[in-house]
Order: sequence, then C-alpha cells, then structure tokens
Amino acid sequence: MYLRSPTFDLDELFSANYHIHTNLSRCGRKEMTLAAIVKAAEDAHLQEIAITDHIHPYETSKLYRNARVLKPQREALQTDVKVYLGAELSDHGVSKYTLQYSSFQPEYRLYAHNHYHMFGWEQPKDRSPLGYKNHCKAVLENMIRSGKPDCFAHPFIDKYIVREFEDDYGFTYGCITDLWTDNELGDLMEKAKEKEIAWELNTSAFAPYRDFMRRYYHIGKEVGVCFMIGTDAHVLSEVDPNKYKDYFKNNIL
Ligand SMILES: [Zn+2]
Ligand SMILES: [Zn+2]
Repeated sequence: MYLRSPTFDLDELFSANYHIHTNLSRCGRKEMTLAAIVKAAEDAHLQEIAITDHIHPYETSKLYRNARVLKPQREALQTDVKVYLGAELSDHGVSKYTLQYSSFQPEYRLYAHNHYHMFGWEQPKDRSPLGYKNHCKAVLENMIRSGKPDCFAHPFIDKYIVREFEDDYGFTYGCITDLWTDNELGDLMEKAKEKEIAWELNTSAFAPYRDFMRRYYHIGKEVGVCFMIGTDAHVLSEVDPNKYKDYFKNNIL
C-alpha cells in the first residue's frame, strides 16, 4: 500500500526519508537512537521518516523485539515529524520472504530483493550476470503478485552481488543491472502500480548507477509509479536527503 501519494515534485519527494536504520541494526552506528534521528529530521525540516531496521531471512522475531523497544520511545517524543516504524524485510528467493505467514506487520514494509551477500539468500542456478538478472526478475514478479511490499529497497542494483562474487566471477558494477530492458522495467512497474507498491529512489545508488537511475526514474515517471526517497542512513549525517537533491536534479532528471 502506498504510504504517500505519488509525486514527481522534487521538494515534496525530498521532504521525507523512508530508509533509516537505528542502532538496532547491526550495521547502524551507535549514535542512531530514535530521538537523535528525529532531531536530525527536524533540523532538516523533514515531514516524514520511516525506520527500517534489517530483518534478515528467518529473523522475524527480531521485528517484535524492535517494536517493543521503539514504540514507547516514539510515544515519548514531542515532534511534528511523522515517524513510521517499518522494517527492511528480506525477499530472499522466489516465493521466499520474511513475514510470509505472520499476522504482525510493521507500519512500512520495505522489501530488499538483492541482498545476495547475506546468509540464507537463494542464489540462482546459473551464476552468470544473466542468471542473476533472471533470478531477480522471478523474485520481483512473485513478490509483486503477493502484494506484500509497500516499497522495494534499492531495486535492480547489483552492488551486493558484485561485492561478494567479483573475485570468483569477475563481476563488475552494472554488469547485472544494465541487463534490464526498458520494457522489462516498465512491465514490472505497471504490475507494481496495480498493487500500490512503491519504488525506492535510493540516494546511495545514484552515483555508481547514474545512467541506470536516469532510465529507472524516467520509465517510472511515464508509468506514474510512486517513488520514495531513501538514503539508507546508518549515521546521523545521512538522515537529511536534501544534500543529494542537486545531484539528482543535474544527473538523473
Ligand atoms: Zn538493503
Ligand atoms: Zn538499508
């Protein structure tokens, strides 16, 4: 379900950050307390933020633990910033995803389909770039059919695969991402739109995947998808997405 109405107005897009990790994520810096994150969001004049701590494959119980810690903290806050307690969930194979059978749902379900470096992630039988791309496609199509995600985190980006397997397979950045055709992207975006599933504009993906991000943005705009800005913040200085706005304007638009 869309958390916000679709917009292509840059000021509106960048007035929120829907991908922030607290220190409950192993990779989140110690300074990432909910209170400090909200203070940074206030300083940046953000209207909405979503907390999206990792729930890796088979970690569903961590979701309850996180909610138990963060909910009372949110209640104690006095702020005009709307804070969603979401999660970065795992879509870790074809028909394999966290919360498949759970009645407990976070307020924002941001699903990652490409954390191939994680333990428990399904790898394609064909370990070539095309094999990975086809696997991503099957995973995404299945997930869209399920209607479970509110948004896809850093979709199509191959950095996690490349980092893990570059020595074994000689992969380079973009070797998988660039295999997606405009028609395939448009088709998936149309299907996701029917289910009100949004797509992340992940700011850390802007630079290494500039040409792809431009294509992704323009096809998404043509289809009329809902884009969500996410910085994937693990440190306080990344809570404000506005420092990426000029880069976005000059290189992606
Ligand atoms: Zn991620
Ligand atoms: Zn993340």
